[in-house]
Amino acid sequence: MTDLLEKLYDAADLLRSAQQIVALTGAGISTESGIPDFRSPGSIWLSQPPVSFHDFINKPEARQQYWQTRHGLSSQVVRARPNAAHRALADLELRGQLLGVITQNFDGLHQDAGHQPERIIELHGTSRAAACTLCGARSSITELQGRIDKGEIDPRCPECNGFLKAATILFGQHVPEAELARAKELATDCDLFLVVGSSLKVMPAALLPRLALKHIAPLIIINLQPTSLDPLADVVIAEKAGLVLPQLVEML
Ligand code: NAD
Repeated sequence: MTDLLEKLYDAADLLRSAQQIVALTGAGISTESGIPDFRSPGSIWLSQPPVSFHDFINKPEARQQYWQTRHGLSSQVVRARPNAAHRALADLELRGQLLGVITQNFDGLHQDAGHQPERIIELHGTSRAAACTLCGARSSITELQGRIDKGEIDPRCPECNGFLKAATILFGQHVPEAELARAKELATDCDLFLVVGSSLKVMPAALLPRLALKHIAPLIIINLQPTSLDPLADVVIAEKAGLVLPQLVEML
């Protein structure tokens, strides 16, 4: 038996006996949908780091860079469709085995794959809405992007005059408390924790698998590059999620 096949059998055994699976997904689950991640070798983000929240608030040139970068990324996100890995997680929900998906992604592809919306926790927000950086009020991203495209600089919230941007979390911005609390609850309650396409380098998401391990849940990691939690995981599969997850669900 090949090493990969052996790992697939081991992972399928664990999945088969779990009824409360929680998946933590990162940018890597969406690369096969055409959206680049942050930390794969060759990523443009490594040479051109994303704008931080501090700079967005304090520097006009950072806000300009933010909207320029968003222009390129948003067309990739708008065109993207769920891939086989997103669909396999939705199949796990249909089988009644999935407690929830905690995602670091803002692309909305888990929703498009057919999950019940209440099963998805978006830790880093969504690019499908706009939000005020001061009062948090949500508004239409299409309308906001339209204003930027027409040349408006620094659009402001009509309620509190805060800067507007997509409702995603920038580096240095706090993860919403309610989402984080629910994510911790899921990590505590699950009977199997599955990491898909995350480098596990971004906090606080990276703490969630550790929380699950503390509560004796088995850990499966499907990620192309090694992660710091590989030595603690029950099964590590360093293959494409779109290849591995559908096979695993088929084996159940
Ligand atoms: P990351 O970029 O740090 O890590 C992605 C990991 O996925 C890498 O270790 C890579 O080896 C792996 N990977 C890439 N393609 C894969 C595939 N097909 N199958 C399996 N593994 C694959 O991503 P992160 O851990 O999510 O943290 C980065 C931050 O970037 C997050 O905050 C996230 O919100 C944000 N982000 C999101 C998107 C999105 O919404 N699609 C895209 C880019 C960045």
